[in-house]
Amino acid sequence: MENLLNRKLRLGIAACQFGSKVRYNGKGIDLTQSLGRDRGQFIWTPVCPEIMSGMGVPRPSIKLSGGNGFDFWNGKANIKNKEGENRNEMVRKGAIACLETLERANIDAYIFMEGSPSCGVYRTSLKNQRLGNPPGVFGALLLERNIFLISSIDLQSPIRWWDWKRRLVAFVWIKEQNINSIDILKEIWDKVKYVLYELHEEEATKIRDQIRLITNEKKDVSDETFTFLKNSILDLLRKPAELENIKKCLWTNYINLKEKENIEVEEIFEPHILRNMTHIAQELLGVEIEARKRNILFRSSPINYKPDR
Ligand code: SF4
Repeated sequence: MENLLNRKLRLGIAACQFGSKVRYNGKGIDLTQSLGRDRGQFIWTPVCPEIMSGMGVPRPSIKLSGGNGFDFWNGKANIKNKEGENRNEMVRKGAIACLETLERANIDAYIFMEGSPSCGVYRTSLKNQRLGNPPGVFGALLLERNIFLISSIDLQSPIRWWDWKRRLVAFVWIKEQNINSIDILKEIWDKVKYVLYELHEEEATKIRDQIRLITNEKKDVSDETFTFLKNSILDLLRKPAELENIKKCLWTNYINLKEKENIEVEEIFEPHILRNMTHIAQELLGVEIEARKRNILFRSSPINYKPDR
């Protein structure tokens, strides 16, 4: 089983983060420009639920009241605009239209804008630091569909983006594997376990113990068990890594490659040495490129993303 993903990933994105001037005040910003050459490695589907609702630009801002996006879909919360007009029906239609578009586009992940009463997932208010009432109306649909969600703010940080990309690539690669034997499960586990430990040691250990248990039992394993373990690995991959763990594992995994494979990359620093995020991202990319060139596994980023179509 090759640790290679060679199809172009499909990303949905909040249109206002893709440069469309569709926010209520006519603003929008293209955060994908921060990705440099990575931008061309994906197929993009920008959507805006508020535009698809028919409210136009500019428009009075809207607000969720009486609950969050889940409550809205259960008929317990309302969307009103600044002028007090009820916009439930319009927003509902706009959100469904966008979801249908993303489903037709067959997206692998969605990049959301935090803070919007429509698109927000963890916050629905940008004006202050209050947690608001998340998720928003569209955010609730995305969560309900279990879509791999990336916060648009992280496109601006080279290291956060590196973390999202390596996890997404591993996520899709595993999702596309047909796990129907312990050997396949163990092969996948061996490739991605270092990332999983880096993300959450306790959760990763639980998965490891379950795999060991079914291996030692030497009994037939049900499809449900394989699905459960596959989903446990996928769920863990949704979790952003702590910066300290990224640095620590970068160093350990680099030393591993240096000793075993004679890989030498300039300016890789021990975790305690202070340097900025951009530098750490360059270190990660440097080791990644060197490992890929020689076709060897870099534990921090185990699946090679080389889209050729
Ligand atoms: S509804 Fe979503 S995509 Fe549209 S402007 Fe608001 S945050 Fe951006």
